[in-house]
Amino acid sequence: MKDWPETFDIAIVGGGNAALCAAITAAEAGATVLILEAAPLPYRGGNSRHTRNFRCMHRGPLSVLIDSYEEEEYFHDLMLVTKGKTDEGLARMVIRASEACLPWMEAHGVRFQPSLSGTLSLGRTNAFFLGGGKALVNAYFNTATDLGVKVAYEAEVRHVHREADRITHLEVTVAGQPVTVRAKAFVLASGGFQADLDWLARAWGPSARNFLIRGTPYNRGVVLRDMLDQGAESVGDPTQCHAVAIDGRAPKFDGGIVTRLDCVPFSIVVNRDGERFHDEGEDVWPKRYAIWGRLVAAQPDQVGFSIIDSKAIDLFMPSVFPPIKADTIEGLASLMGLDPATLRRTVDGFNAACQPGTFHPTELDGLRTKGLNIPKTNWARPIDTAPFYGYQLRPGVTFTYLGLKVDDRARVHGTDGPIQNLWAAGEIMAGSILGQGYLAGFGMTIGTVFGRIAGKEAAAHVA
Ligand SMILES: Cc1cc2nc3c(=O)[nH]c(=O)nc-3n(C[C@H](O)[C@H](O)[C@H](O)COP(=O)(O)OP(=O)(O)OC[C@H]3O[C@@H](n4cnc5c(N)ncnc54)[C@H](O)[C@@H]3O)c2cc1C
Repeated sequence: MKDWPETFDIAIVGGGNAALCAAITAAEAGATVLILEAAPLPYRGGNSRHTRNFRCMHRGPLSVLIDSYEEEEYFHDLMLVTKGKTDEGLARMVIRASEACLPWMEAHGVRFQPSLSGTLSLGRTNAFFLGGGKALVNAYFNTATDLGVKVAYEAEVRHVHREADRITHLEVTVAGQPVTVRAKAFVLASGGFQADLDWLARAWGPSARNFLIRGTPYNRGVVLRDMLDQGAESVGDPTQCHAVAIDGRAPKFDGGIVTRLDCVPFSIVVNRDGERFHDEGEDVWPKRYAIWGRLVAAQPDQVGFSIIDSKAIDLFMPSVFPPIKADTIEGLASLMGLDPATLRRTVDGFNAACQPGTFHPTELDGLRTKGLNIPKTNWARPIDTAPFYGYQLRPGVTFTYLGLKVDDRARVHGTDGPIQNLWAAGEIMAGSILGQGYLAGFGMTIGTVFGRIAGKEAAAHVA
């Protein structure tokens, strides 16, 4: 195997937010840095290019963020979603460090915008990237290359060679050719394993092959698996993931945010057999949307169908695909591959169970059905006004939770303590903080904070 022609102080695996934050920080500290990105240039940036915002602590108005969002409230929000499965020390460290991230990001090319309609509730907690994650990633690549960071595309790291408590080199395939990359320090920022459908199927059973992957096809967990096989300490449960219900017409990979469907609370959702299977009005959508990925995953063929009428069509953010539309419920059923008579029966049964009351689309209105085995507890209005609309739902996996255990210096640990010249940042170590659940915008916060720590520590190691 040939050696990479140049030598670098630090080799960084991955080309998303965490990798770039590490690369920029290390280069500014004087280290020479090589980024190894598995994707070709047009697909660089991993899941980070699909993001919209990051969650940021602030003690007063900060850039586009209004009011304040202090440590205790942030930590409380985190505890609610993780149900206490949080490493408090690491979580508080990330929360506190997030405040300094925003000006750092601005200084390195990221531009922010106030939250727009549909996301106004996040205007205090989450700072939105102008141009989305793609603009953020492009800004960071520009900054990094201006600092002399070298980027190798189509460079998939296949093996991280460990000898005792050190990493000696990486075995990489660059544009199909095997190459050895030597460096003094290494940062792993290669995301989760959700794009490896075989691994998903081993963890969740064969039905996982029908899941759609919302982000990059390059996060296959090759480096994660390799490190776990070499005794790196792991965190997180392989069967845990963040999954949401997305439009069934989304591509297998990389559909991104625009394929998410927000119509569920104003609809009834039936399975392949035309039967409802869960309370669609359980809570406000931002609190429930993440459970529908798993609910749909548990249905036959891992598919669901959300049915609404013309009264509801303008009540939610539209997805990129237009809904299926018909003048009758039977016509809609035929277009969606459902049995018309069964769907008619389900809709009639639901309509008969709806009660009079006042409908409030933006709050829990208590408008509930009466007498159904599976009630709808809010926003239950008859589906009776043509035209009727339907969306097919499928589980869309955002990311997996199994990862490498790190300490507050981002060091990866083996059974005998930290590996001397190895750090990890981003999704690959996020399970060190989050045991379950997810707080919107926290993925990018973890990656930014730990990317910067990893870059600083690795640069200090080689100095
Ligand atoms: C549709 C969608 C929307 C999201 N929205 C948000 C949001 O608004 N806010 C938020 O905080 N989080 C959001 N997330 C989660 C967020 O994307 C992640 O938490 C974050 O991007 C993780 O950053 P990362 O750098 O760890 O991984 P990534 O950005 O995924 O980067 C991993 C990189 O590693 C590369 N790679 C993988 N394997 C190898 C290998 N063997 N060799 C070399 N390179 C390799 C990949 O090509 C990729 O460049 C969203 C995710 C998705 C899918």
